[in-house]
Amino acid sequence: MFDKILVANRGEIAIRVMRACRELEVDSVAIYSDADKTSLFAKYADESYHIGESTPSESYLNIEKIIDIAEKSKADAIHPGYGFLAENSNLGKECEKHGIKLIGPKGSVIEAMGDKITSKKLMRAANVPVIPGTDKGISSIDQGIKIAESIGYPVIVKASAGGGGIGMRTVYEEDELVRAIESTQSVASSAFGDSTVYIEKYLEEPRHIEFQIMADEQGNTIHLADRECSIQRRHQKLIEEAPSPIMTEDLRERMGSAAIKAATHIDYTNAGTVEFLYSNGDFYFLEMNTRIQVEHPITEIITNVDLVKEQIKIAAGNEICCSQEEVEVNGHAIECRINAEDPLSDFAPNPGKITGYRSPGGIGVRVDSGVYMNYTIPSFYDSMISKLIVWSPSRNDAINRMKRALREYVILGVKTTIPFHKAIMNHEAFQQGRLNTHFVDEHHKGIQ
Ligand code: ADP
Repeated sequence: MFDKILVANRGEIAIRVMRACRELEVDSVAIYSDADKTSLFAKYADESYHIGESTPSESYLNIEKIIDIAEKSKADAIHPGYGFLAENSNLGKECEKHGIKLIGPKGSVIEAMGDKITSKKLMRAANVPVIPGTDKGISSIDQGIKIAESIGYPVIVKASAGGGGIGMRTVYEEDELVRAIESTQSVASSAFGDSTVYIEKYLEEPRHIEFQIMADEQGNTIHLADRECSIQRRHQKLIEEAPSPIMTEDLRERMGSAAIKAATHIDYTNAGTVEFLYSNGDFYFLEMNTRIQVEHPITEIITNVDLVKEQIKIAAGNEICCSQEEVEVNGHAIECRINAEDPLSDFAPNPGKITGYRSPGGIGVRVDSGVYMNYTIPSFYDSMISKLIVWSPSRNDAINRMKRALREYVILGVKTTIPFHKAIMNHEAFQQGRLNTHFVDEHHKGIQ
């Protein structure tokens, strides 16, 4: 086992990783920016080092400084969490040069799956169903028009290097295509430094269903069931649940084996997620996330596997916790992302000082949070401040438990997504499990 792990992240996920370290009796090292001097994770760690100014390029994205602190603190491994450097293959390369273990898959796999065109090609080769369309970047507008015609409208123009819901444009008819291609190219080039875009079929009312993968370095790969993440705003998840309300044994078997096929085809190691869009009984590979995800706790709760501890153990050379047959799904879990955003003002970020705080508790409630009373949420980073997770034997009971926990959650001083979550939990269509990725847009008025 490692002696000391540097957590190259901040907020709730930094604390989540440090909790796993503590249970494994491994020391944790925090790095914190100017804006995070008073953040909880910097206090929680066994050792904390100031890394630099608040802007991510001077702090959580600065590989050189991170490696420097890892060496100074004698950390023998780095956990990147999610976001920031979690899917940056250069961190892995630098770690290797310095004899530090990066907790995650190999750099070459991160690179391949980070590019949507490359990953689609790999999945097609692995016989995993992909969304109809091309696996080639479009070379000219004329070619784009021909491709869209052959796929049939509506189509979606996507940046190959895209992520975080950025670099995607839906096109319903040819008239809109040229503008969509040009604008996606320009967004892609400024946000990701790569203007390659491609076109695929736009599935009109899909559900987003993903599978948690875990693979060790001895060649064992399992999945830990599914999560439904159809409640999204601007292609960003807001509520996740496990299992998916439409999951059956047969569907889990089919989607789960496709997810395993995807992972084994690329020699995947450590934790990862294979995302699918599900539509009219069919499912298609969307992308693979080569890291621990925000919504990992709902899987932990229904499978009773600590995914972060597993990640660390696997990186240290241990075999995976369990065989596929040993993975059991128990009950139902829901997660609400508590963001410091104003749901009545188009989810605009609302950083500031928390002047009153009481987190919910009681049976079946878990809060993974990075904040506390009198804490000032900085404006430099993501607006997610906490995750409220509940478990119950049935989906109905889990919804009622979430409603109860949301009522208990007091956060004063900043606007949060709590009222939005309450409205969703009370929404008939949600209660009936009638979900698709347009749920929020379709029911928006009713929800506000
Ligand atoms: P990102 O990498 O930016 O997160 P993804 O490719 O994972 O982007 O897609 C995010 C979301 O965008 C999906 O969950 C879905 O809601 C929507 N989406 C992406 N591709 C399609 C498609 N072909 N048809 C319909 N919706 C799509």
